[in-house]
Amino acid sequence: MSKSLGLIGWRGMVGQVLVDRMKAEGDFKKFKSHFFSTSQAGESAPELADHKTLLDAYDKKALSDMDIIISCQGGDYTKEVYGALRESGWNGYWIDAASALRMDESSCLVLDPVNRSVIDKALNDGVKTFVGANCTVSLLLMGLSGLFNEGLVNWISTMSYQAISGSGARAVEEYAKQIKEVGVQINEKSAMEIINHNNFSMTEDVIGAKLMAGLIPWIDSEVEGGQTREEWKASVEASKILGHQIDIDGTCVRVGSLRSHAQALTLKLNKSVELSTIENLIGEAHQWVELVENSPEQTKAKLNPHYTSGTLNVAVGRVRMLKIGNENLLNIFTLGDQLLWGAAEPLRRMLSII
Ligand code: NAP
Repeated sequence: MSKSLGLIGWRGMVGQVLVDRMKAEGDFKKFKSHFFSTSQAGESAPELADHKTLLDAYDKKALSDMDIIISCQGGDYTKEVYGALRESGWNGYWIDAASALRMDESSCLVLDPVNRSVIDKALNDGVKTFVGANCTVSLLLMGLSGLFNEGLVNWISTMSYQAISGSGARAVEEYAKQIKEVGVQINEKSAMEIINHNNFSMTEDVIGAKLMAGLIPWIDSEVEGGQTREEWKASVEASKILGHQIDIDGTCVRVGSLRSHAQALTLKLNKSVELSTIENLIGEAHQWVELVENSPEQTKAKLNPHYTSGTLNVAVGRVRMLKIGNENLLNIFTLGDQLLWGAAEPLRRMLSII
């Protein structure tokens, strides 16, 4: 008999991409699918649902009828519902995009092209909670798994360029508004006038800053030592995925690209390795990584969110030894669609693994 699958958060940025990928891969045929909502219970459910109207995402009885729950709703929802559901005796599989349960001892982080053995061990050990990692962390590990597999990575400093869709649907809607508002103010001005009057007014209720024609080097809340939570996640989550400690730190920046997160990396190698060997290790690690030649043409064409968005490609380029320091310091630029490998795809694949 098909297992009952509950989907929560399917209307959001990650959820819509997840549903599209599940449709494309025929995943819905494997389950009896139940669609929940925190805000629209009782309204019409999508055709894929096993029922006519949306179920209430806070109805613990309905949730506990599910064999598997996949939530792309967000951390607040997870915190409100997950613990109470487990305490009520529900022992199904919970798969989550939010960060709330990532560092929980009873959860396993999922990125199966990188940590399938960790996932298999967790399943064998009876783990029932599987969580997608932070989007930039997952993309970093997907891009560099060839170097991690060989034990070549000593530490990484990463400077991210993160797309607005990483902030959710409401932020994207506001960003579209900012684009329009700035467009009106820019209309018919010369280049010099635009630069001289670079003080546009725009709505910033959701994003909390002027992002259009700007950037925000702060993502998420503050943790200790002046670090942001987004920056803090890099080391702890990468270490949990890989099963050993890896030091990663840097500055996470929100930029005005719509989709796909990019990262400029300084990577300290554990030993001296030929550049051609490094390129081969990166490019041949798995089917989703694309090594981009370090040329102006290839860089402009492929190390660009317009190239990777909507694809499962993780592009890695600008690979060269740094000309500062004398210590095997590698320069790399990598990017990929944070809604796919950074969020929906590891969850979708976990569903199939279960
Ligand atoms: P989101 O776009 O804000 O959607 C979450 C929920 O918000 C929706 O399911 C919907 O729930 C509600 N919602 C409210 N206004 C909406 C609107 N105008 N359009 C669509 N939905 C709206 O969140 P998200 O970016 O998908 O992120 C979900 C979780 O995944 C978060 O924990 C996030 O940290 C994590 N994550 C996100 C990304 C990313 O790139 N966005 C990457 C990795 C992890 P109801 O239908 O119940 O109202």
